Amino acid sequence: MIDRAARHLVVEGVVQGVGFRPFVHRLAGRYGLAGWVRNTGSGVEALIEGDGEQIDAFLDALIADPPPLAQITALHVVERPSTDVRAFTIVASETTGGTQAIPADVALCGDCRRELYDPADRRYRHPFINCTNCGPRYSIVEGLPYDRERTTMRGFTMCAACRREYKDPRSRRFHAEPIACPDCGPRLKIIEPSGEALEDHALARARRLLGEGKIVALKSIGGYHLACDAYDDGAVKRLRAWKERGDKPLAIMVRDEIELAHVGRVTPAERTLLESPAHPAVLVEARPGGRLSRHINPGVATIGIMLPYTPLHWLLIDETSGIPVPASLVMTSANRSGGPMITADDAAVHALFEIADGILTFDRPIATRVDDSVSQVVAGEEVPLRRARGYAPLPLSLPFPVPPLLACGADTKNTFCLATGERAVLSPYVGDLSQYDVFREYEATIERLCALMQIEPEIVCYDLHPEYWSRRFAERRYPDRPQMAIQHHHAHVAACMADRNLTGPVIGIAFDGTGYGEDGHIWGGEFLLAEYASFERAAHFEYVPMYGGEAAIREPWRMALAYLRAAGIAWDERLAPVRALAAENRSVLETQAERGVAAPLTSSAGRLFDAVAALLDVRQRVTYDAQAAIELETLADPALHAAYDFAVHDGSPRRINVFPAIRGIVEDLDRRTSVPVIAARFHETIVAIVRRVCSLVRVDCGLNGVVLSGGVFQNKTLARDVAQSLALAGFSVHRHRAVPANDGGIAYGQAAIASARLKGAR
Ligand code: ZN
Ligand code: ZN
Ligand code: FE
Repeated sequence: MIDRAARHLVVEGVVQGVGFRPFVHRLAGRYGLAGWVRNTGSGVEALIEGDGEQIDAFLDALIADPPPLAQITALHVVERPSTDVRAFTIVASETTGGTQAIPADVALCGDCRRELYDPADRRYRHPFINCTNCGPRYSIVEGLPYDRERTTMRGFTMCAACRREYKDPRSRRFHAEPIACPDCGPRLKIIEPSGEALEDHALARARRLLGEGKIVALKSIGGYHLACDAYDDGAVKRLRAWKERGDKPLAIMVRDEIELAHVGRVTPAERTLLESPAHPAVLVEARPGGRLSRHINPGVATIGIMLPYTPLHWLLIDETSGIPVPASLVMTSANRSGGPMITADDAAVHALFEIADGILTFDRPIATRVDDSVSQVVAGEEVPLRRARGYAPLPLSLPFPVPPLLACGADTKNTFCLATGERAVLSPYVGDLSQYDVFREYEATIERLCALMQIEPEIVCYDLHPEYWSRRFAERRYPDRPQMAIQHHHAHVAACMADRNLTGPVIGIAFDGTGYGEDGHIWGGEFLLAEYASFERAAHFEYVPMYGGEAAIREPWRMALAYLRAAGIAWDERLAPVRALAAENRSVLETQAERGVAAPLTSSAGRLFDAVAALLDVRQRVTYDAQAAIELETLADPALHAAYDFAVHDGSPRRINVFPAIRGIVEDLDRRTSVPVIAARFHETIVAIVRRVCSLVRVDCGLNGVVLSGGVFQNKTLARDVAQSLALAGFSVHRHRAVPANDGGIAYGQAAIASARLKGAR
């Protein structure tokens, strides 16, 4: 007589769309247990019956060895009376209540890739092959729980063979919601400029176009891409011109390992990241002297590389079809100058024939836009630059539980954050809200994610900046909800603290381009004594004027003139930024300088990098965000060089005076010191400033933990050298891990701050 027991389980976390129910089913079989399992609004629920010891073993295995893409955040187990059921079944989903995690899209897995190339497999060369471990997820979800009838696959009726696999707990495709095959799955077609759509040989036609140096638009996971031969100068130049993106680097997709080694110097950590389930674009060192088009990444030494992540990408780029295709393709989102990536089929046809010679598409709709994610590796660790496909909207945790809450984020590189309890969902990258189309998509995506997560925000937080679009949206959309305005750099620091599960307080360094300060000036070179609920400004770069306001962001020579003047150096024609100033503008600038009109004050570290880049004549005008700083970093000599002089003035806050460094740079220029050496000395100066200020602040307040945030810390040289230098001085240094250091992390920081303030309020 065995001791028959029963337990009811509730599993929370990322447990839908990752093969969790079949896993539970298999596990129950292994331990001879009966019962049932189902998806619910908040996760997975199961009843397990049988021998008590076997149930314990089952639970151990459940925790120890879940499916590769699952993340269990909580497991609740309650004893139940046994009912004498003898079989184990997967029952229909419970659709009500709760807020479950939404699975992220996953790149083609190894098993599916083997089948894709197996002539004996019924999915041989099927462009929509997927399984419980891979395939589209968030991008096709229309509602929760995650089941086929609430995805854009609902229009495809499964054939008998697919249905058998879908229902068979032993199959790799048991409840793989987007399951498909050549008989019942989406159909590929190529649309010609004439409007004619061809299903036969669509892939061959696309490959031929790419081989001929033409541009092909193709539908991927979260939107349309534009692709062309990465070795073809003419094609890349044409694509870049149409995109109106200035010199901003384009990402490429490479065919295989050989090509990967050919175009980049890829470290083992970078390779692991490239091959991770998300398959982000990874910024790696470009191999110098390669034959890739120089129009891909002008002026920078890195290149953004992706591996193929859909079966369609593989079939397009592989070597097996007999039609030669370039081994590297430029693969860039199909949109013009910062607009949203096109996701709708009619919009693609409407807009993309301006540039594309064919549109390779299919009839599985995209429910939600998801851009490609971009990451880099700093000191062996992944640091996300843009968090989207493969990451969003997987949940993050907050330091304290919150009521349903919306954090609106920043206006550039926008993401927003929805939170409830301790769970925060950071939206995929939205973009620059000053673009009308992006702003409209921002509004729509907030509504969609609120509906999916069944969250009705009770608290709304946004940036302190009175003119941010995100703030205006919140004030208009949620006029009767309590609102919280949060200072930009506090949000940067809190994002990094929460990202690293720190409890605070810390010395928070936020170096970025622009953020509205509590004194109405533009902050951006900030040392904060920070905890989640509040902060004190411990030190900042001395204010300088931005001549012409926003124009100074696009034209670094304006910042150089401001720094020259502050350093007491005359605007002499021998200096490059002075030459960039046309004679007729000189009197305007001089008036602005003397009277302080049209010249808001800033402490921005980003603008300081711009000023130095202009002084060295690296760049007088930028065509994309942080271009001057990136080019300055690229040029910097890697050897060790002495820092320039600077001063830190006492006070509350302390003020960092870099004008001696500006004088040092001009002296070096007059001495004909090389630009790479001056650039290196400047970087070294920033490192020395950070160490000095942190040491002073440590004496004041006894804090030893430092967090590094803000877009300026995307500069790998700076992030690495600052961290090393602080570590040598005995600080414990924390960088971002899951959310970007740039404004893409602001919404998460806002939510973390709100969680602490609301806790204090209770
Ligand atoms: Zn798979
Ligand atoms: Zn089928
Ligand atoms: Fe910022």
